[in-house]
Amino acid sequence: MNTFANLNLAPEILRALTESGYTIPTPIQAQAIPMVLEGCDLMAGAQTGTGKTAAFALPLLQKLLPHASSSSSPARHVVRALILVPTRELAVQVEASVKAYAKHTHLRSLVVFGGVDIKTQTPHLRTGIEILVATPGRLLDHIEQKSVQLNNVQILVLDEADRMLDMGFMPDLKRILALLPRQRQNLMFSATFSSEIKKLSSEFLVNPKLIEVARSNATSENVTQQVYLVGHADKHALLAQLLRGSNAKQALVFTKTKLAASRIARQLQREGFAADAIHGDKTQLERMEALEAFKQGKVTVLIATDVAARGLDIDQLPMVINYEIPSAAEDYVHRIGRTGRAGAFGNAISLVSPEEEKYLVEIEKLIKCQIQKVALPVMVNTPPPRTESRPAPRAEHHVHLRAAHAPQAKRPVHDAWFNKPYEPSPGKLVEAVPVVPSGKPAGQIPALFMRRKPVQTEPED
Ligand code: AMP
Repeated sequence: MNTFANLNLAPEILRALTESGYTIPTPIQAQAIPMVLEGCDLMAGAQTGTGKTAAFALPLLQKLLPHASSSSSPARHVVRALILVPTRELAVQVEASVKAYAKHTHLRSLVVFGGVDIKTQTPHLRTGIEILVATPGRLLDHIEQKSVQLNNVQILVLDEADRMLDMGFMPDLKRILALLPRQRQNLMFSATFSSEIKKLSSEFLVNPKLIEVARSNATSENVTQQVYLVGHADKHALLAQLLRGSNAKQALVFTKTKLAASRIARQLQREGFAADAIHGDKTQLERMEALEAFKQGKVTVLIATDVAARGLDIDQLPMVINYEIPSAAEDYVHRIGRTGRAGAFGNAISLVSPEEEKYLVEIEKLIKCQIQKVALPVMVNTPPPRTESRPAPRAEHHVHLRAAHAPQAKRPVHDAWFNKPYEPSPGKLVEAVPVVPSGKPAGQIPALFMRRKPVQTEPED
């Protein structure tokens, strides 16, 4: 039988895996770990939820073990592995996994991402770390500020490379690659194999081994997919009805736009659901708080845009609902990949209006199967917002997705943020400004000072 012990991992790593509850390597882990240990470059086509993080993190830790040092001197802890990811949420999750797997070693890891004060990250970088997880823009900021040195990097991981390209990170990636030692091992992970991805891999991988654990652009067999054909005006009522009628404890609802995410969350809150929204116009703190509340089950319905939800890893998330289906078919695969992870079963429901049917055709072409069309339930009327004077009727099956603590007749928890009119995020304004540290000659790495950060494209509405 294939076990982690058969994969030549050190006892301190195996111990951490046992503590994480892992017993058997997933297919991508079984294939990738020996190849990475051999020193090969890797091009891996793996959907999210397949265990791809451990597939690169475990052999990476194994290879760095000889450099582990109990010394507190920063000089003994130089960056030897760089993991680049497209979003903050994914960065946090990947680093949390690395930390968990490395907990019985002296290898140190750190995560850096934009949207938070860079000054809070610099002292941690200066204490010395071996594994750095970063979003490209913020890493370049640190390089400019000379708070990080990359000349000892021996392993580079590009995680969710397809999304990295979608989000316009290519120029940043090229700048970062130019600063790394030429002699290094490169591992690239991507859920999809577009021609751009193939081009990128031919540019920076050397004789890569190719692994594909599932058919490219395939969707997990553990996920039941259904489509409701419904007019746009009826979507909210149907959503509320599906949430009420479901036995699922939690649901992640996708919208195309930030405004729609906020609006739906606000309306669901009024209807008594413990709902919240997560999208790029919220501050990093708000996003992390909403995510944490969702992970803890305090929020039962999380409304998200594609960018914000990228990399979300919620254990046992039973249901994903596409309030609007994405116009890019790959995004459908990413979205429904939030459920049915690591062997669990999930349900993915899409509400498709007549205007969206053309996107559905593209999605079905991509996943090479027809999604089951379900007849609309009888009642599709928006229930009136509940007020103190007229509490909504209670039904047994409503309970699961409703606020865990608040009694039904009480006014729902209200996030004042949802009442504010839309304002462009101050983060965006900052992002558009060329990053020239004041009082610092722009001589050392001229190319970097010309950089504009790619804006994580989320339509407003
Ligand atoms: P990933 O595809 O890396 O995002 O992983 C998806 C989920 O699977 C995460 O919650 C991991 O903790 C979990 N996982 C990864 N590898 C294993 C394994 N070998 N056994 C059980 N769970 C795993």
